[in-house]
Amino acid sequence: MTLHIPFQNSYGTLPDRFFTRQNAEPVRAPDLLVFNDALAAELGISAGTPEDMAQVFGGNRMPDGADPLAQVYAGHQFGGFSPQLGDGRALLLGEVVKGDGRRVDIQLKGSGRTPYSRNGDGRAWLGPVLREYLLSEAFHALDVPTTRALAAVATGERVQRETGLPGALLTRVASSHIRVGTFQYFYAQRDLEGLQALYDYTRDRHYPEAETPHDLLRAVIQRQVKLVVKWMGIGFIHGVMNTDNTTLSGETIDFGPAAFMDKFHPVTVYSSIDRQGRYSYDNQINIICWNMAQLASCLVPLMPDGEVAVAGFTATVNMMPNQIRAEWLRVFGQKIGIADATPEDEPLIGDLLRLMAHHEADFTNTFRALSEGAEIKDASDPAAFTDWRARWQQRIADEDAPLDLMRRVNPAVIPRNHRMEQMIAAAVNGDMAPFDRLLRVLSEPYTLSPDDADLTAPPQPEEVVQATFC
Ligand code: AMP
Ligand code: MG
Ligand code: MG
Repeated sequence: MTLHIPFQNSYGTLPDRFFTRQNAEPVRAPDLLVFNDALAAELGISAGTPEDMAQVFGGNRMPDGADPLAQVYAGHQFGGFSPQLGDGRALLLGEVVKGDGRRVDIQLKGSGRTPYSRNGDGRAWLGPVLREYLLSEAFHALDVPTTRALAAVATGERVQRETGLPGALLTRVASSHIRVGTFQYFYAQRDLEGLQALYDYTRDRHYPEAETPHDLLRAVIQRQVKLVVKWMGIGFIHGVMNTDNTTLSGETIDFGPAAFMDKFHPVTVYSSIDRQGRYSYDNQINIICWNMAQLASCLVPLMPDGEVAVAGFTATVNMMPNQIRAEWLRVFGQKIGIADATPEDEPLIGDLLRLMAHHEADFTNTFRALSEGAEIKDASDPAAFTDWRARWQQRIADEDAPLDLMRRVNPAVIPRNHRMEQMIAAAVNGDMAPFDRLLRVLSEPYTLSPDDADLTAPPQPEEVVQATFC
């Protein structure tokens, strides 16, 4: 049985300077670790034998209909502009159109060197591949817009990082891989025709209702605001919100050093390379405004009157903080059982978060305990919440089934960093059982069987993950 992917490709019809066509670099001994049957079915993909799928998702055999290419883009990395990045270790195989008419990309990540690899080896190691697999599938279950994971393959080769590590590839599915950085590439090249072609393509694919670049900007902003506030609502820190990791589709992409918080603190940073805290938990809302301002700049040349466009786009970007605040209020209001929070509810929410930060409360478990009408336990001084709780109970007395609402928005279980580290350590030793278990439990994060209650525990002091690596 051979794998069949019903490709219908479109990105490859864009001008040649949008990408470099090439094949993957073959790997020595590809071994299929995991395949997402449910996602495959959604995409109309028919599975092959494990051996056959290992060949394809390891990059050794290009499936019929694929048009493999590395996409070019640019991007601000930690605020500094790189005029040319691009897929340095990934290849777009092509696209599939789902039953509902939506088009998605199928991409190999870790497929070898490309003209955009700079000093990199073009490869990925097993740890980040399995981490991205679990995080993206957990996000999907948490109803957060995200790229998905279709397959993971071990290569049978070592990759050199601080030490030699087992190599792997991830097959990623995305609404597209168009990034703010893709626009920045053509803008920085002063390639107006390229910019126009990219705009037309992006509009047709993601925002067919947009009549002008300004409409498109507003629509992207709306999705990104919702996305980043969703991250905030689950205690998530992306870690590398560079403009090349901010999509036009509004999906989360690139789970490099990404992490969920255990103890709540607004300036939490995990990424080992984020020394200034640029991408800390709280600062994500400032950074998304900054990234959208970069997108806005790129769209100006597409408008008939530059000065008018700058004024209009500036006003649109300047509205973001208010939009974020409103969305934040909605999301955090629901987290405490208020269906439609108003600005008057802000102190109640703010005070809870201040108490949580002060008393080192576990983010996930605190909201979940409140949802279950249980005592808060994972905090340094649970009694400190008593007064707040009385105020809160008074506020939600008139809400309709507030705890039901809360149990629908506050997950019982999240991919905790220490569990991910344990999962990776086991997988490196050939034991995929912790991965399989996490995948199963995280696919239904709002319900938990007592057998899996251990997965909700915060890390023991010796288990705390201090830093995450790409
Ligand atoms: P990221 O920080 O993961 O968004 O990656 C930034 C850029 O570095 C992208 O252009 C990647 O394709 C590239 N890159 C990351 N890791 C590697 C690698 N091991 N080999 C080649 N390019 C890489
Ligand atoms: Mg990236
Ligand atoms: Mg990355």
